[in-house]
Formats: sequence, structure tokens, C-alpha cells
Amino acid sequence: MTSERQQAAVPVHEVTNPFEEIQKHIDSICRRMNVDEGINARLRHCKRELIVHFPVKMDDGTLKIFTGYRVEHNTSRGPAKGGIRYHPDVDLDETRALAAWMTLKCAVVGLPYGGAKGAVACNPKVMSQNELERLTRRYATEISVFISPEGDIPAPDVGTNPQIMAWIMDTYSMNKGYSVLGVVTGKPIEIGGSKGRFEATGRGCMISARLAGKHLGISLEGATVAVQGFGNVGATAAKLLAKEGSQIIAVSDSKGGIYNPKGLDVNSVLRYKKETSSVVGFKDSETITHAELLALECDILVPAALEGDISAANAASIKARMIVEGANGPTTPDADKTLCDNGRFVVPDILANAGGVIVSYFEWVQGLQSFFWSEAEVNSRLQDIMDNAFHEVLEVSQREKVNMRDAAYMLAIDRLARAITIRGTFP
Ligand code: NAD
Repeated sequence: MTSERQQAAVPVHEVTNPFEEIQKHIDSICRRMNVDEGINARLRHCKRELIVHFPVKMDDGTLKIFTGYRVEHNTSRGPAKGGIRYHPDVDLDETRALAAWMTLKCAVVGLPYGGAKGAVACNPKVMSQNELERLTRRYATEISVFISPEGDIPAPDVGTNPQIMAWIMDTYSMNKGYSVLGVVTGKPIEIGGSKGRFEATGRGCMISARLAGKHLGISLEGATVAVQGFGNVGATAAKLLAKEGSQIIAVSDSKGGIYNPKGLDVNSVLRYKKETSSVVGFKDSETITHAELLALECDILVPAALEGDISAANAASIKARMIVEGANGPTTPDADKTLCDNGRFVVPDILANAGGVIVSYFEWVQGLQSFFWSEAEVNSRLQDIMDNAFHEVLEVSQREKVNMRDAAYMLAIDRLARAITIRGTFP
């Protein structure tokens, strides 16, 4: 450990445009696969983009204007699917990038969906429940020209949760005049949510770590794990990995990280975070910086915060044997190359964190049929899809001699190119 630990916990973001990076990646994979130029062009553009500026009455009686987005990247394989992010820094390009990753993710795990994403530039941490409800209902109404059970189905992402999904479902239903379960996923169980949805993304990360571990000869039992971002995805992944016998030696949130080489009690950390709103200060732990967490000697690193945190500035310091990307886009392209050169095994985001959209798909199917499954059934079907997708990506990676990220892109782009070709171009 260095004296950096004493420094303020400053995130290690690198300023890049994630959408431009994805476009470059799509172009390079299309070139490698000799994909038709027109199809390449379809994949590097978003199909529809909506920007809305709308007023919300704040608790103090003032009106504030917020900016929101909904972007549909591609719908060749089915309705657009993707979460909604509430974060002060979101913009159109970040939303486009997140939408494009959704297209690739749904294709790589074989779901009959295209990709979308939504966002509102706001800080939900400083808003009251009433303000959040008014903002959500107005935003849902503004984007109702896009969303529908057949066309575009939102879900939770950073800064949003099942309650916010419930307000979206209720708002849409009030405007229709009847209850529409399938318009949004990640809802509370009481109004048509799926068992297992809340934990699905973290469970998918745990399953990915188990599959990658089998491939690399690392057992989850006794493996050491560092988790960056102790939110829905990171905390659930930590809990489920601990259940498998792994030792969670460090976790972090936006305020900083905590470390205990003998292992943290994840449930106690969760309770502590609920009470104090951060993991920092948890007993039986040392405080560490974001940079120190990423550089820890461990078997598995799970980045589960925001884009671009693993960058050229810190990639060489990463010692984890495998990186399971819970977050979308946590690794910049330069960092990815360094990780690969240093022999780190990366399970890429569009595979590792697909558990969320897989169980969202199950929730949508259950809602459309009004027929609900047991948690065991949900988890077993999730396991089957993850298992199958992981082995398909691994097979491409070995056959084409490329890393797992390029293999996942190749598999996804092949499926998308076929769908686009078969459908043809209208008119
Ligand atoms: P969340 O808001 O529940 O949690 C995010 C956590 O990251 C918070 O604890 C926050 O404090 C922490 N954080 C922010 N900046 C940080 C930094 N620099 N260092 C360390 N921690 C930091 O969000 P979430 O739903 O868990 O999503 C996390 C990531 O996973 C995002 O990239 C999201 O797009 C992706 N993802 C989420 C889902 C889902 O179902 N929720 C599905 C697929 C992918």
C-alpha cells in the first residue's frame, strides 16, 4: 500500500467518448469479418434518438428543467431493450454508447431484442421521493412516444430502482387506461416483477466468474475478490461469490474503498452502507483509494461502477487473474490491450453483466402471459443461457485466436448481420 491511501478518494476516470470507441470497435470487427459496408453503417448509427427538456416542480415550489434521453440503437432482432440511468453527468453520447452495448449484449446471449438506453441528467441522491416521483412520471410521459411492450422496454440502471420502474409502469398504464405489465422490467414483485430480477446481474457475474474460473483452473472456493462499485450489481456479485466460498477482500463506492486481506463480511458491509450511505469507515477494514482497490493482488476483480474506470493510466497496475465486467464499458480500449498483453482474462461486459437483461426478458415474457415462474426456474434458465453464451464466446475466441471481448463482438455482429440481411432494407 502506498501513501495514496491518505489522499481523497478521486475516481480515476479518463475522458473518452464511449460511443466513438464502440463505433471504432464495431468497424474493426466488421472489417475482420468482411461484413457488408451497409450493415456496418447500420450498426455504427443509432436508429432513433429522443432528447427531452421537461419541468419538475421541486418541494420548495420552484420549477426546475431537466434533460432526458431515450436512444434506440438497433431493433433488427426484436424490440429495443435497455435501462434508464439517473446521473448528473449523463449525456447523449453516453446514452448512445449504453444503447449500442445493449444491442450487442442481447445478440451475444441470444435474446430476441434490440438495444436501447435512457437517461436523465439529475442527482437522485439529493432529491426527495416526491421529487423523484414527479420527475419519473413526467420523463415517462415525455418518452412514451418511444416506449411500449412491443417496441421499447426500459429497466433499472445506475441511480434507478424497482420503485422508479413501478412509477413508469403506473404512468404508462394511467395514460392507456389499463395496466400494462410488459412496458418496463425490474418492477417490484407485487406488480408483475420477476423473482430473481433484483439479483440477476450480480448472479450473472458470479456465474461468469465460475465459468471463467473453470476454464482457467481457479476455483471460486477460496478465490480472493475485489469489487469496485458496491451498488446493485457489485454488492450482489460480492454476496453470491462469498456464498460460493470466495473471500471478498475489498469493495468500494463513490466515496472510496475498504480492504481486509482476511475477507469482509459482505452482509455486515451491506447493513453498514444502508445506515451510513457508504462502505467507507466499516469496522474491521482499512480505507483504500479507488486506484489501490484496482491494483490489489487478487484472483478476481469485478468492476461494477461506471464507464472508463480501468484506463491506460491504471491498467498496468492490475494484478487480478480475471476481470469480470459487471459495469458497462469499465475498460477503455487502450486499457483492454494492456490487460490482454499482461495475460489477464477479461469476461467482457456484454457477456458478464447480461444476467440483468436475461431475467428482464423472463419478466417481460411472464408479464405478457400473466403467468409467473418460481425463483428456482428463473435461476436455472439464467444459468443455462449464461453457460451457453460463455461457451459460444470461448469457442469463437479459441477458433479465431482473439480475446473474449472481440469474440463476443464477433458472435453478436454475426447474429445482427444475419438478421439485417434476412429482413432486407425497407422500402
Ligand atoms: P448502482 O447505482 O446500484 O451502483 C453503482 C455503485 O457504484 C454505487 O455504489 C456507487 O457509489 C459506485 N461508484 C460510482 N462511482 C464509483 C467509483 N469511481 N469507484 C467506485 N465505486 C463507484 O448501479 P448498478 O445498477 O449496480 O450499475 C453498476 C454498473 O452495472 C453500471 O455500469 C450499469 O450500467 C451496469 N449494469 C447494471 C445492470 C442492472 O441490472 N442494474 C445491468 C447490467 C449492467
